[in-house]
Amino acid sequence: MATLPGQLSPTPRLLLGPGPSDAHPRVLSVMSTPLLGHLDPQFLEIMTETQTMLREVFRTKNQLTFPVSATGMAGMETCLVNLIEPGDPVTVCCIGYFGTRMIDVAGRTGCNLTVKHKPWGDVFTLDELRDILKETRPKVLALVHAETSTGALQDISEVGKLCHEYDALLVTDCVTSLGCTPVELDAWEVDAAFSCSQKGLSCPPGMSPISFSPRAVDKLKSRKTKVQSWYLDLTSIQSYWGGDRAYHHTAPITMIYALREGLRLVLEEGLEARWARHVRNHKALKAGLEALGLEYIAADGHRLPQLNAVKIPAGIDDVAGRKKMLTEFGIEIGGGLGDFKGKAWRIGIMGYNSRPICVLSVLAAMEHVLR
Ligand code: PLP
Repeated sequence: MATLPGQLSPTPRLLLGPGPSDAHPRVLSVMSTPLLGHLDPQFLEIMTETQTMLREVFRTKNQLTFPVSATGMAGMETCLVNLIEPGDPVTVCCIGYFGTRMIDVAGRTGCNLTVKHKPWGDVFTLDELRDILKETRPKVLALVHAETSTGALQDISEVGKLCHEYDALLVTDCVTSLGCTPVELDAWEVDAAFSCSQKGLSCPPGMSPISFSPRAVDKLKSRKTKVQSWYLDLTSIQSYWGGDRAYHHTAPITMIYALREGLRLVLEEGLEARWARHVRNHKALKAGLEALGLEYIAADGHRLPQLNAVKIPAGIDDVAGRKKMLTEFGIEIGGGLGDFKGKAWRIGIMGYNSRPICVLSVLAAMEHVLR
């Protein structure tokens, strides 16, 4: 190499897109502390503390609760490949882009897949889900709780109970909900859930917390075939995150420090207070966005406070608008995905970034861009 690249010095940004969000300064600070070995007794204690706090944040007593060593998609894959065997009837109820990811991941397991769609921005009603369960009789029903592509919140509070009436397991994507809006795994009878570190938990991307109910663990134990992924096979990862703490893979030490601090921050604030903060800042942002003439994609009543997806007004160029936000104001917002490519902007005020200063900054910049 003729000349070495200079020392890394990224321009500071305010990350107000669909994720990653800015990590909390306390999280960044613990990330610069010394490494421990992944079997060091001190690190094993850190793992236990992380799992205990994760159970509290997921509102569950599920023993099998831990962070998968990769991003949210690995959590999705872990839940689906461990609970599905070839030939199993599986139903995915899709309300947006991340539902289509579930279809793709489930489809690769060789299951007998049924897909049900709602128009993007919409959500399923409990009656619709009951009819789907009656018709398709799946062993696993999968759906996204917080659909980041549309800003829609799928109510799942009664869906687990309903699934159990039909002998199905409920798998939910909580990537954009955990740490922002209520997630109550036990009360809602969710069997398998996954999330991420880079949104409501105010950490960098790199971890995917998951949790399996005793019902889901029974299904795992009764498998007749090997889990198709070696790395994500819970029957073997359990040896590390379960009681034995036996080597499975080298844990991403620094990311687990980060997650531990992110979880400490959530529990220090209190879940209810944190959910209320997200609603408060959403209301302020919504008032401002509507005053600027922007219209939400998801209907009032099933809208995510932490992810505000709005239609780009006629005459405004998507890419040029976002570029201006980034280069002139240092603010990142998200563009549309899939059906909404070029048609939507997504503004995330999640975790550490759900603050009045973030709301005011994005509104001021947006006003300028829309002028
Ligand atoms: N599911 C949802 C709802 C998401 O929003 C995302 C990412 O934004 C994912 C899954 C995938 O997570 P990751 O990009 O961390 O792998």
